[in-house]
Amino acid sequence: MNAAVAEEMQLDRGVKQFIAEQRKMLINGDWVDSASGQTLDVYNPATGDIIAHVPAGNHEDIDRAVKAARRSFETGAWTGMTASERGRIIWKIGDLIQDHLEELAQLEALDNGKPITVARAADVPLSADMFHYMAGWATKIEGNTMSLSVPYTPGAQYHAYTVKEPVGVVGQIIPWNFPLLMAAWKLAPAMTCGCSIVLKVAEETPLSALRLGELIQQAGVPDGVVNIVTGLGVEAGAPLAAHPDVDKISFTGSTEVGRLIVKAAEGSNLKKVSLELGGKSPNIVLADADLEVAIPGAANAIFFNHGQCCAAGSRLFVQENVFDKVVQGVSDQASGMKLGPGLNPSTEMGPVVSRDQFDRIKGYLDAGISEGARAAAGGKVREGKGYFMEPTVFVDTKPEMKVCAEEIFGPVVTVAPFKDMDEALVAAANETVYGLAAGIWTNDVSKAHRLAAKLKAGTVWINCYNIFDAALPFGGYKQSGWGREHGHEVLNNYTENKSVCINLA
Ligand code: NDP
Repeated sequence: MNAAVAEEMQLDRGVKQFIAEQRKMLINGDWVDSASGQTLDVYNPATGDIIAHVPAGNHEDIDRAVKAARRSFETGAWTGMTASERGRIIWKIGDLIQDHLEELAQLEALDNGKPITVARAADVPLSADMFHYMAGWATKIEGNTMSLSVPYTPGAQYHAYTVKEPVGVVGQIIPWNFPLLMAAWKLAPAMTCGCSIVLKVAEETPLSALRLGELIQQAGVPDGVVNIVTGLGVEAGAPLAAHPDVDKISFTGSTEVGRLIVKAAEGSNLKKVSLELGGKSPNIVLADADLEVAIPGAANAIFFNHGQCCAAGSRLFVQENVFDKVVQGVSDQASGMKLGPGLNPSTEMGPVVSRDQFDRIKGYLDAGISEGARAAAGGKVREGKGYFMEPTVFVDTKPEMKVCAEEIFGPVVTVAPFKDMDEALVAAANETVYGLAAGIWTNDVSKAHRLAAKLKAGTVWINCYNIFDAALPFGGYKQSGWGREHGHEVLNNYTENKSVCINLA
């Protein structure tokens, strides 16, 4: 980026310097160019201007990175440390993220377009917290002992126990919607389990993860344990998923690419796979809900991060006697949102991440209107520079419309009325191939529990939405994914369970 433009944006000194330098990727502790020498442009979605260049990694770079990860794993550079030493280093990464909060938040707002206020309050602190939380688990990864009966060896005595071992070399592929946080969600638990990692970041938003790579080095992580490769999905992501020396692949992104990951694992070495994929989450407002809370809650459920959230509450169901009031309230919230560049502190909604996403979401707005939906708010894109869209509330919808059936991944919600809290409501809420999240707004605790039990979703939020925490497992039913991230459950993604059985005779 030109220095004058950086100056004009009033960027933090660290950010100015970071984007002014030619960026490289991290392989085996070195910052390197791609083997091909090719680079990718990185754009500011608020203007469409190029802000940086990163290496265009390909299969050769992935292979180099996997070899480095394998070497570090087999030589015990990381697993050879005590769990307590590893935990202290992982904790330190969390501290360093906190120390660089402003710089990381600005990088995120610049590269992804999200409001700086959100990056400061959510993305960066949550990323630090993920490392802090996981650091505590490093010393608590334990197996069990069990008593065996073994009926076909009468009289024999055995001692048996299980050990949880790191799964080995892990490939991780992340999307662009929460670039730093997704890197933290993936890296922290895998590092905690003692794995060595190759992380492929999204082509749209590589910057904050590269800065995180520097902090990881600063914290004292040995070379080769964390490798960060930039590049296109087909050129760098696909060879990582298909690599015969990767033991496990963890992917977050579209269900479509999730299927390709599964095929690549099947077609190579049957590596273990965990997936966090798309969603089309129902958010249900019962008539007895406190609407002062439910209306802004329903707006936040969809408009947070511009709707670019796998768990977004994109299908709003409202009990018919409060339907008009809720539609009006959510529409007012939508119309009142201040659109602007992510770096502007008063911005409430920034641009969507890229030209591709802009065109894709615009296609859904057009499809909604042509299929007969009515925009109670928004419905249009903003012409001119940058990828700005109006937050949109669609009513008069039918379940078979594209806007109701498909994941839009933008600031677009459909609202449908329902009469009673009955099987028809449950069927409508569950009428999706996805099952990532759901929301319920009510003051009746027994209704809340009854409904939560019937929703096929990995997370159900009651009188809240978009509550993420390092301790709270997150993942999907149905085509929203395989496995869970966060909490102690994520440790299963990165460990193998070994049973050891000793004959005491
Ligand atoms: P993708 O699923 O294409 O991208 C996610 C990650 O996978 C990126 O790092 C991408 O690389 C990589 N990738 C792409 N193709 C391959 C491949 N063949 N093999 C291995 N890795 C690959 O999502 P998009 O960015 O294209 O977004 C499209 C839609 O996906 C969104 O509109 C939304 O519906 C959904 N999505 C869901 C997310 C979630 O959190 N569940 C997050 C992002 C998107 P590259 O950056 O080069 O594309």
